[in-house]
Parts: sequence; C-alpha cells; structure tokens
Amino acid sequence: MKLASPHQTPGAWPVYGHTWASEYLQRALQPGGDAPHSARLSHAYLFLGPPQVGKTTFARAFATALLCSSPVAPCHTCRHCQLMARDAHPDFRLLQPMAKVDKEFVVDRQKGELRVEMAEQLIRDAALRPLEGARKVFLIQDMHLANLGFANKLLKTLEEPPPHVILLVTARHRADVLPTIVSRCQVIELRPLDQHVVRDALQQGWQAEPGEADLLARLAAGRLGWAVDQLRHPERRAERERHLATLWRLMAADRLERLHFAGELAGQRDNQQIFSLLEVWTGWWRDLLLTQAGADEACSNVDMLPRLAEHARCLETRTVQNYLATLKRIEGFLRHTVNVRLALDVLVLRLPAVRT
Ligand SMILES: [Zn+2]
Repeated sequence: MKLASPHQTPGAWPVYGHTWASEYLQRALQPGGDAPHSARLSHAYLFLGPPQVGKTTFARAFATALLCSSPVAPCHTCRHCQLMARDAHPDFRLLQPMAKVDKEFVVDRQKGELRVEMAEQLIRDAALRPLEGARKVFLIQDMHLANLGFANKLLKTLEEPPPHVILLVTARHRADVLPTIVSRCQVIELRPLDQHVVRDALQQGWQAEPGEADLLARLAAGRLGWAVDQLRHPERRAERERHLATLWRLMAADRLERLHFAGELAGQRDNQQIFSLLEVWTGWWRDLLLTQAGADEACSNVDMLPRLAEHARCLETRTVQNYLATLKRIEGFLRHTVNVRLALDVLVLRLPAVRT
C-alpha cells in the first residue's frame, strides 16, 4: 500500500484507520509495558475482518514494527524498515493460498489453498535463527482457505513456537478457523472503516479526485482495499453499472425473460459474479429505503440520484423492505446450498416490477 507522508513519522503505522488496534499493539511493543491497560506481545495474532478491509496491510505494518530496530517502531528509516518497504526482509515470510495452473502453483485468493507442504516449509524455516534481527515474522494470509493438513501442522507450531517466532494470521470469520488455533492466538478484529476515513485516504494516499473519492467511499462499505482496487482498475467500475442496468431491465421484464437471465447466471462457472451482483443490487435497494426516508445524502449510489428518486416513488416502502430481506436470504442460501439455480429463480421472480 502506498504511503502518505504522515505515515512516515516514527512510530506511525502505514495504515489508514483501525487506530484502536494499532494503538493497542503499539503498547505491546513497548518494553516494560507497566502502564495501565498495557498489552504484552503474544507469539501469535489472528486478524479477522471482511474481505479487503485491510487485514494484510495492517498485519504487514505490525510485522514492520516487530522487526524494526528503533525504540520508536516502525521508524521507517532503519535497515529493517527499509527492507520491509522493499518487500525484501529475510526474516519476514508471507504465505498465501496457491492454486495449480499448468503444473505450476500461483497465488489465488479465490480458489487457492494453503497447502500442507507450505506449513512444512514454515516449520523448517521457523526452526532456524533469524538472519538480520531478533525475530522472525510469518504472515499467513486467508486462513479460511487452509486445508486441514495445513491447519494441523500450524497447530503444532502454535503449541510449541520457537521463542524468536511471531505468527500473524488473517481470516474472514472466527468460525472459519479451527477453534484450537483461535484459542492460541490473540484475536484482533478489524471492522469496516468509517466512510470519511476511506474518502480521506483515497485523496491523501492515492490522489483521487474529491468526487471520485466520495463515490467510492460510499460504495466501499468501509473496505479501503476494495476502494483502492476500484480506483486502480476503472474497468471494474463498469461492473456496478452493468449489474444495475440488468436490475432495471429485469424489473420491467416478464417472467420468461427473468428466468432466462437466472439460467444464464446460474450457468457461470464463477460464483464471484453472482455475489458481486447481489452486493450491487443490495446497495441499490438499501438506497431506495434511504431515499424514501428522505435521507438521500446517505445513499451509496450518489451518481444515480434521479433514477433512485424515480424508483422510490413507484414502490411501497414495504415492498422495498421485503425485497431487501429476500436479497439477504438468497445470499445466505448461496453460501450454503448447491442449488444455485433455485436461489436465482427466487431472486428474479420476487423482484418487484417497475415500468419506467
Ligand atoms: Zn525501523
């Protein structure tokens, strides 16, 4: 993640938001630590939070602070901080889910796995002394994608960690991680950021235009990583417009056309498209409720207020609430069921009709 200048101050973490968590861990880094509410360093941390909320960026900042040689860590100037900034510190390892593509393993955070061989390598690495400093830090990304073999090996390391080793683990939900692993880690839950934090970060750290920063911050639901991704890949922003155009078309369409669309969507290999559509649609229906309540300044789709107002006039609040509940139920279904087609049929058939 690109650094903004205030982040270069000694002791400042190169992250936006999550202040309580960085302050808490900063206290654990202080030697002695006999101040009230002081924390002590643990040998393992589990960072939980929704996708793209900044778990890896945060954990990496903590790793820099752990490896930094200055009393005010991270100092951003010592050899360790500079090696971390260049992603070249020999005592830091990042483990990411991998998938096999053409006989080679590549990082894949959607369909990849943390595999047992990776945990075996970690155990071998962890047994060796650090090369540069006093500690070795391992960052394990996406523990919810670990296979059982990986999880069991990791558990052994957590039971008897070499004294110089600190393990940082990220995952989406507590329930996705073996309870025996959770209980051996200090758990840090990162919550979605406030809208203004995302907006300011986009402007300061990524030089976004004010209007663009505002729109992305509204759509991001507190996930700075998502907003940055959208900023860097303008083509992905067309996805929202496409999903909304589909929504409007289907609201005016008959049963047959709706079912045809559900069939096409269900036939796609990548479920990610379905979840992306659900997210965009849910945002729209939430905005309709806000518009009906006269709170359009809180809407996410601020660039489409006239269309929102038009829909809000045509629909009863109860209808909007019901469809929002349907969207939520369908998302739950899709996470736990194999019958994607049935869920998508419900999604399109329950969609209220609006002819504009
Ligand atoms: Zn340093």
